[in-house]
Amino acid sequence: MTTSAQVDLVSVVKDYGSHRALNAIDLSIKPGEFVALLGPSGCGKTTALRALSGLELIDGGQILIDGEDVASVPTNKRDIGMVFQSYSLFPHMTVLENVEFGLRMRRVAADERRSRAAEALDMVGLGTMSSRFAHQLSGGQQQRVALARALVTRPRVLLLDEPLSALDAKVRVQLRDQIRRIQTDLGITTVFVTHDQEEALAVADRVAVMNNGVIEQIGTPEELYTTPVSPFVADFVGLSNRVAARLVGGKVDVHGTALELLGAQLPDGPVTAYVRPEDIALEKTKAKGIPATVVSSSFLGSLRRTQVVLADGALLSVQHDVDVRPAAGEAVFVRFKGAPVSAVPASAGTGVGGVAVP
Ligand code: ADP
Ligand code: MG
Repeated sequence: MTTSAQVDLVSVVKDYGSHRALNAIDLSIKPGEFVALLGPSGCGKTTALRALSGLELIDGGQILIDGEDVASVPTNKRDIGMVFQSYSLFPHMTVLENVEFGLRMRRVAADERRSRAAEALDMVGLGTMSSRFAHQLSGGQQQRVALARALVTRPRVLLLDEPLSALDAKVRVQLRDQIRRIQTDLGITTVFVTHDQEEALAVADRVAVMNNGVIEQIGTPEELYTTPVSPFVADFVGLSNRVAARLVGGKVDVHGTALELLGAQLPDGPVTAYVRPEDIALEKTKAKGIPATVVSSSFLGSLRRTQVVLADGALLSVQHDVDVRPAAGEAVFVRFKGAPVSAVPASAGTGVGGVAVP
C-alpha cells in the first residue's frame, strides 16, 4: 500500500539570524527504517524535521527524498505525514472529519474518503470513536487520531515531533509501542524526534544523537549504549557515573582499575570517566574491592540501584541483583568490572566526581 522512501539529508545547514540551528547535518534513512532524533532541548531536532517537511527553507546542503532534491517542492507535495507534540486536531470537526481532512484537500471522492479514514482509525484502535470531538478524547486518543490523520494519505515518510511528551508515563509507553507496531506493519520510513533517551532506544532501528546542531553519533541502540563515540553520547544515552580518573598509557585508571578508553584517544592526565552503574559490582565482602558506604538503595523491580560514597567523597551508582539488599550506612565494597568507558579531560569541567544518575 504505502511505498516508503529513502531520505537523505546532505550537509544540511539552517541559520536563524546568527544562530546556526543545523550545522551540516548528514543523515541517510533507508526505506522503511525508523530513525529517532535524540537530543536535549534546543539542539535542532524540530528544525531538522521542519526542514525535511519543507516548513523551513534550508540555507545549505540538500534534502533528497527517493533521490530527488526537494528544495523546490512545497510541504504539501512532499508526500509526508506529520504528528506534532501538541494536540493539533481541528476542534470543530469530528474525529472522522479530522482524519478525512487530508483526503478532502486531495479531492478524494467522499466514499473513498470515508472508508480510508475509517480504516486509518481502525489501525490506531479508535474505530468506535469516529463521531467524537477532540474535547471528548483523552490526550493519548487525540494523538492516535493525529497519527491516523497523518497516515490516511499514505505518505512516503512519517515525521513525529515529540508526539508522546504531553502524555502520562503509562500511556506514553503504550502509544510508543503502538506507533512502532503500525510503522512496522506499514513499513513506512519514519523519523521520530524525542529528548527522552529511553524512548528513542526502545522504538528506533537507529538513533541519531544531536547536540548543538550536529549529529554526534548515529547507530543502533546497542551501538550507542555500548560504544558511545563521545562523552556527550555516553552521558546522554543511558545512565552513567561521572568518575574522577587518570589516563595512563592510553588506559583509564579508575580508582586503581585500568579500563579501555572508548572513542578518540586522549593525552595522559586527569579525566572524567563515564561508568555505567551495571559496570560496577557491589560486594559485601572485601574481594579486591574499594571500600564504600551505602547512601541509599532503590528497588526497581527486576534490579536494584544503590548509591554509595567512596572514602574520597565520590558518589557512585551501582546496579545489582534485587536479592542483595544494602542498608543505608552499611560498609560495602565496589569493583569496576572492566567494561570500556568514555572519558573527557578533567579540565573540560563536566562535574568531576558527580553522578549523572538519578
Ligand atoms: P529542539 O527541537 O531540539 O528543542 P529546535 O530545532 O526547536 O530545537 O531549535 C534549535 C535552535 O534554534 C534553538 O536554539 C532555538 O532557539 C532556535 N530556533 C528555533 N526556531 C527558531 C526561529 N523560528 N527563530 C529563531 N530561532 C529559532
Ligand atoms: Mg523541538
